[in-house]
Amino acid sequence: MVALCPICGADGIDMVYQGFIRMGRYGDSSDRSFCVPHCLSCDTAWLDEAFFDYSQEHYRKQVDGEASIEAYHRLHDRDQVNALEVVGTGEVRGAVVADIGCGGGSFLDAVKGFASKTLAIEPAAFYHEGLKKKGHCPYPGLEQALETHAGEVDLATCLSVIEHVDDPVTLLGRARQLLKPGGRLVVSTPNRNDWLLQLLPEEYGAFFYRAAHRWYLTGKSLEEIGRRAGFNIAQVRHRHRFGLANMLLWLRDKRPTGHDAVAVPPVLDAAFRGTLDHVGLADYIYAELKSTCS
Ligand SMILES: [Zn+2]
Repeated sequence: MVALCPICGADGIDMVYQGFIRMGRYGDSSDRSFCVPHCLSCDTAWLDEAFFDYSQEHYRKQVDGEASIEAYHRLHDRDQVNALEVVGTGEVRGAVVADIGCGGGSFLDAVKGFASKTLAIEPAAFYHEGLKKKGHCPYPGLEQALETHAGEVDLATCLSVIEHVDDPVTLLGRARQLLKPGGRLVVSTPNRNDWLLQLLPEEYGAFFYRAAHRWYLTGKSLEEIGRRAGFNIAQVRHRHRFGLANMLLWLRDKRPTGHDAVAVPPVLDAAFRGTLDHVGLADYIYAELKSTCS
């Protein structure tokens, strides 16, 4: 039985989900039921078990189908528009940029033309040769990057990574040590306040809650983790990645059907996404954290 919140130590815990979870891609369901505890104080929810070793190819094969850097590019290059929009390009020229959990390096590829140096921090060593060929400096973890680059980084990103790790506060604390005084860290993660999860808690829940994700965060819980890691919170932004068609099809079919099966007028789609972003019900969160100057 869960006693205390692993983030803030509070003892007020309830359960936000109980049921099957996703083990890899859609259709790969767990063979038993899981509980997802939730802290009433800091709003963090979590799975008590870890399933993957991220240095091994098995994880990428399970969730992406294959583990090559080309497959990573194919799947993740398209996501970088959203990350760039949030990070912005105005403060990147000449900067030292570190991407923590960079995978095959799609985000670093997108900023390489602006940055003076790009640190590719990634436990999966099978990406390192490809990362080096693209001009990035690969490190297997923050500990190794800190040996030579502590206090040197202007901008760090940690995109869709915090939900996977054993200890999010330690992760962000180490990321803070990489930064120059006044440097910034942009952290992103799926939003547990996703409207679709509220509308379809069972069917979408069995897709949303998954073996690869230890932590299920909201703007509030992400801010709490950032503060505990010694950051000031500059801004939390919600961004809905999928269009109205995706939500309509989920509500109709109770499963992921793809985005293109229903034509939604772009103006309606923009209003839908903009509204969810504004009220915090979007499917994804970006937090911009500032390192304190002390
Ligand atoms: Zn808590």
